[in-house]
Amino acid sequence: MYCRYCGKEITPQAVICVSCGAGLNTGRSFCQNCGGESNSNAEICVKCGVRLARPITEQAEKSKIAAGLLGIFLGFLGIHRFYLGYNNIAVAQLILGLLGIVTCGITSMVSGIWGLVEGIMILTGSIDRDAMGRPLRD
Ligand SMILES: [Zn+2]
Ligand SMILES: [Zn+2]
Repeated sequence: MYCRYCGKEITPQAVICVSCGAGLNTGRSFCQNCGGESNSNAEICVKCGVRLARPITEQAEKSKIAAGLLGIFLGFLGIHRFYLGYNNIAVAQLILGLLGIVTCGITSMVSGIWGLVEGIMILTGSIDRDAMGRPLRD
């Protein structure tokens, strides 16, 4: 493997490049497979033909539809926030949701509306990133 930032060879176990300190796949100047220079907009390495690794911040991993539906139906428990990795907000919603048992459902209603609104915001694209800053998949 090669650093995509500086082109130096790195071990497959490395989390960051020891030569330049860049996180893995944060650069776009070199191919991770052969170390050859690559155009920063290229998808495929012209030298070895391998698909160039994309920076982790650009990889869509979580589904927008799934997150949106989770927010609408299970948002009162913060499930959509757990799914997207926003654990602090998720725990707050979960506590509100569970407190409904002792508040005759009042706090559950608050977190339910909260989750519903966020579910719609996710589906309409107002919330379009997960907690790692990665875009959501359509
Ligand atoms: Zn490097
Ligand atoms: Zn290559």
